[in-house]
Amino acid sequence: MGIRSSFAVMVGKATAKLLHIMGKGATSLPGVVTLKLCPNVLATLARDIKVICVTGTNGKTTTCHAIADIISANGYTCLTNSAGANMINGVVSCFMNASSLTGKVKRDYAVLECDEASLRHITKSMGSLDVTVVVTNVFRDQLDRYGEVLTTLDLIKQGLAHIPNARLVLNADCSLTSSLVESTKHGDVLFFGVNGGFESTSSSDISDAVYCIRCKTKYKYHSHTFGHLGDFYCESCGYHRQKPSVAVDEVTSFNADSADVLMSIDDKQYEAKITLPGAYNIYNGLAAAAIGRVIGLDDKKIIASMSSLTTPFGRMEHVALGEKGVEMILVKNPAGFNEVISFLTKHCTGEDDILFGLNDNSADGTDVSWIWDVEFEKLGERLREVTTDSQTFFFTGKRGEDLQVRLKYAGFDTGKFKLEKDYRALIQRLMGTGRHTYMVLSYTVMLGLRDKLAEVAPLKKYAR
Ligand SMILES: [Zn+2]
Repeated sequence: MGIRSSFAVMVGKATAKLLHIMGKGATSLPGVVTLKLCPNVLATLARDIKVICVTGTNGKTTTCHAIADIISANGYTCLTNSAGANMINGVVSCFMNASSLTGKVKRDYAVLECDEASLRHITKSMGSLDVTVVVTNVFRDQLDRYGEVLTTLDLIKQGLAHIPNARLVLNADCSLTSSLVESTKHGDVLFFGVNGGFESTSSSDISDAVYCIRCKTKYKYHSHTFGHLGDFYCESCGYHRQKPSVAVDEVTSFNADSADVLMSIDDKQYEAKITLPGAYNIYNGLAAAAIGRVIGLDDKKIIASMSSLTTPFGRMEHVALGEKGVEMILVKNPAGFNEVISFLTKHCTGEDDILFGLNDNSADGTDVSWIWDVEFEKLGERLREVTTDSQTFFFTGKRGEDLQVRLKYAGFDTGKFKLEKDYRALIQRLMGTGRHTYMVLSYTVMLGLRDKLAEVAPLKKYAR
């Protein structure tokens, strides 16, 4: 290691130590300091480690978590950054926290959640490293962040341009993501996808990538899963979905916290249980399975690993509050929210209450008009069939009223609406109902509510 990077690492370590003594989290500042002193420090810190970067609009955190589960379950070690630290400073900090004073990081793998716009900064000094990049999907994110889907796709391309020898793991069902195959020099690409689609979706759900990325003709589909994901093809130029080598062929049953599926790896079919909740998480499980192949696991081990995946912060976290408990679900954009709506439409009964929480801080997205792109109508229709007299829809957050208006238009019974902006008072009310609650929350509502929940219920600790 050069003198410059040694010095940078030592100062970064000292910063982390100091923050620790002061009782502060060290997810970003050590990275800032280290990068200032040595901009390409990642090339040094990650030199003996195999790097797996995970990017894309939705599913990054769950996919990283699932990959880390698979890696550890099979006897390897890995370091990961937390969801809130997915930009360059956070990534460097996570290496700093794991490194010795001399900059040695004793791990087999680094599993890095990478913000789409930050990937190009993170990969910049990784040209000489062993890197695999997983791209989950590309959807329209909050309106005020990256603009159009093609802008997001271009940002990812810029990130891949720094690492032309990288191995890619791509979602075959996303016409935008799978076009990234052209970004790799050797065509070292592994596709994952869902064969045959899910029955409940229709072509009206497609809004983010309607037209062929090559010739602008409207795509046709053999089958659909979510949004624009599915077995797409273009009649005009012939661009079409690639056959995935890691795939779900059929979902035999959806359960509240898992799915029983027929899964195929290189055309060999297996029965598997993916222990992640919701149909949308099948993709995240598949991405992790594809990484299982990348790290050299045999099919049997990959299939076995699928049944011991766990969910991370904000992804259907169960909290023992009151008699029946609550499930906390994080929502960030229309596509992710629609996946949650699909889940609730399947699993929410009249015996469950729902809490909707929305803020408009910059981490949530300052323009909340995207809630009009969420298909609340589907959930409204279902709840009109199954609702009970005691069912309540709670609202909180700075923009709780906007959600109330949105849900009124979606056909929800406004007589069941209750707005409570004080988190402590809200928690007391929820505890008093004796009922189970699904909490669907934007990022900073979740952080704020979690703090207050921790005063009355046992909670997992997450780095921020
Ligand atoms: Zn075309």
